Amino acid sequence: MKNKPILAIIGGGASGMTAAIFAARKSKGKIKIIILEKMDRVGKKILATGNGRCNFSNIFADCKNYHGKSPEFTSYALSKFNPLSTIDFFASIGVLSKQEQDGRIYPYCDRASSVLDALRFELDRLGVEIRTSFKINEIIADKSGFKLISKNNPSLSAQRIIIAAGGCASPNLGSDGSGFELLRKLSHKVTKLSPALVQLKTEEKEVRSLKGIKFIGKASAYVNDKKIADQTGEILFTDYGLSGIPIFQLSVLTALKDNIKIKLDFMPEYSYKEVYEILISRRKQLSHLRSENFFNGLINNKIGCMTAKKSGIEKLSLPVKDISDENIKKMAALIKQTVFNISGTKGFENAQVTAGGVLCSEFDDKTMQSKLIKGLYCTGEIYDIWGDCGGFNLQWAFSSAFLAAESAVNL
Ligand SMILES: Cc1cc2nc3c(=O)[nH]c(=O)nc-3n(C[C@H](O)[C@H](O)[C@H](O)COP(=O)(O)OP(=O)(O)OC[C@H]3O[C@@H](n4cnc5c(N)ncnc54)[C@H](O)[C@@H]3O)c2cc1C
Repeated sequence: MKNKPILAIIGGGASGMTAAIFAARKSKGKIKIIILEKMDRVGKKILATGNGRCNFSNIFADCKNYHGKSPEFTSYALSKFNPLSTIDFFASIGVLSKQEQDGRIYPYCDRASSVLDALRFELDRLGVEIRTSFKINEIIADKSGFKLISKNNPSLSAQRIIIAAGGCASPNLGSDGSGFELLRKLSHKVTKLSPALVQLKTEEKEVRSLKGIKFIGKASAYVNDKKIADQTGEILFTDYGLSGIPIFQLSVLTALKDNIKIKLDFMPEYSYKEVYEILISRRKQLSHLRSENFFNGLINNKIGCMTAKKSGIEKLSLPVKDISDENIKKMAALIKQTVFNISGTKGFENAQVTAGGVLCSEFDDKTMQSKLIKGLYCTGEIYDIWGDCGGFNLQWAFSSAFLAAESAVNL
């Protein structure tokens, strides 16, 4: 009996597992589908997504939510496999969805483990072979297909391959950038890489004294002194800099850029003039207090003390009644805008996604097939595509997996 042709999928993460399911459903047993995963089990990263709840899509997903040299590369895939397709797909494997704030889609049961289990059960039902602890170190392409070389395992031949090896973000969960090496050796170009959806480090030392403080405020990102975006929400001071969802989202937009500043507004609902007037009236009302307590009941007192010091008040034991008009003006300005120079990020170890990746223009956006090597496909985060915070990255993993699988099974 003739052996079945093989579709090998390198990487058993979000896009690799779904590509295998789509391919197996479409091929109806005519081809053998094998997932090769370097970790001891598939889908480790899925368990960590959405704080363990797996924000697996966003109802508003559109190419505007993606970044890279050519975000429009996502358009066709998102039109063929959109967020409703994702909801239907998960329903087909027993996972009910729910929609939350800003269009974020989660499993109704709030458990990322249920998403991973449902994917594993479906792979099993469809007879997809999974080989774990199977890192691919090299790919040799020739006329008959591909030879996949693994240092610790026997090599494997396949007629078609999907490289679904992810980027460099959170290497402890599997994706260590080795997919980029495989593609570079096959003459594909990889753009500059940088962590995104990540905490930002600041040059200013005063953040250390604010470590652990959370506040609802507005963060605006500037690149070369030009404002590029702002985000409002809960911001966290840490010993190295800034964290929280607004900062994560801004890190998506400032990735790969230099000379970044984050300007914080501690009272975004009030104008500078209103803040100034509030401080002037408090000086009278709270004249019996010391400056160190001037902000109590207005904004976080430690943040207030930081603005007082920056405004030139040397000793916080200074009676409130003695705060000068000039100090009040400066404090109001600092409450509306305290500037932090960004010195870097917390690195790939802490990042949720990779900015940069394999050059999209070397792939066909209708099939995800390489324009350089026939029969080679890529899916997910390995591309020079990264999405906003809110379910967009997993949606891209599924949409790209769908197109790659549809085309790769046509052997
Ligand atoms: C903590 C965290 C939370 C996140 N939360 C969300 C969220 O809520 N919503 C959202 O949309 N996105 C989220 N993301 C991003 C999202 O998880 C990724 O963008 C998505 O998983 C990418 O899918 P992928 O299949 O391309 O890569 P991955 O899921 O990274 O999978 C790649 C797989 O390939 C394997 N591999 C790598 N190299 C090789 C090799 N050489 N040989 C064999 N196997 C290999 C890896 O071990 C891994 O299992 C989060 C990411 C992190 C780290």
